[in-house]
Amino acid sequence: MKGGKLIIFSAPSGSGKTTIVHYLLKQAELNLAFSVSAASRARRGKEKEGQHYYFMNVSEFKNHIKQDDFLEWEEVYRDNFYGTLKSEVERLWAEGKNVIFDIDVVGGLRIKKKFPKETLAVFVKPPSVDELKIRLKKRSTESEDKINMRIAKASVELATSPQFDKVIKNYDLDTALEEAHKMVADFVGVSASKKED
Ligand code: 5GP
Repeated sequence: MKGGKLIIFSAPSGSGKTTIVHYLLKQAELNLAFSVSAASRARRGKEKEGQHYYFMNVSEFKNHIKQDDFLEWEEVYRDNFYGTLKSEVERLWAEGKNVIFDIDVVGGLRIKKKFPKETLAVFVKPPSVDELKIRLKKRSTESEDKINMRIAKASVELATSPQFDKVIKNYDLDTALEEAHKMVADFVGVSASKKED
């Protein structure tokens, strides 16, 4: 596999990384395309097939594992498998794009290890675990049980931040967006000229 750059944003669920990734995708000069992951969890709210995830059941997912179709995959939560299909990255590289990922810390570090020179791995740090809980409750897309599962995982994930190339503290969203924009522009070798909301 060969092509453009890989930009990874990893963080505990609720840290704001998805907002940052969406903002970066709007900055045309960065030439980014989103890597749509495969996932075995249930679809939430307005999520669309092929846009947010390629949704599949656990047995379909396991079939892809057997076929060696994944660049990385992870059972992020019990029975919730997520993975990056090799075909997805190949497709976006063939379009001449830099690929941006919104994936968990383990998957992010795996891709960095496979493509050390091509990858910028960024960890988004939330203000605190308590604040994460508040944000997840506000989002109200998951049950109390699922929120607790995500919070329990957050502390483990926070400990991996030193392994990333860069850490962004998402205490103030505008500052975090600007910081992320500059960081990615530097890495892909363009100037962070445009700013859209
Ligand atoms: P959510 O269910 O909130 O969409 O995602 C749960 C977690 O799975 C998030 O941390 C998200 O970044 C991660 N995730 C999404 N896609 C992938 C993937 O392809 N690989 C890995 N390892 N994690 C992923």
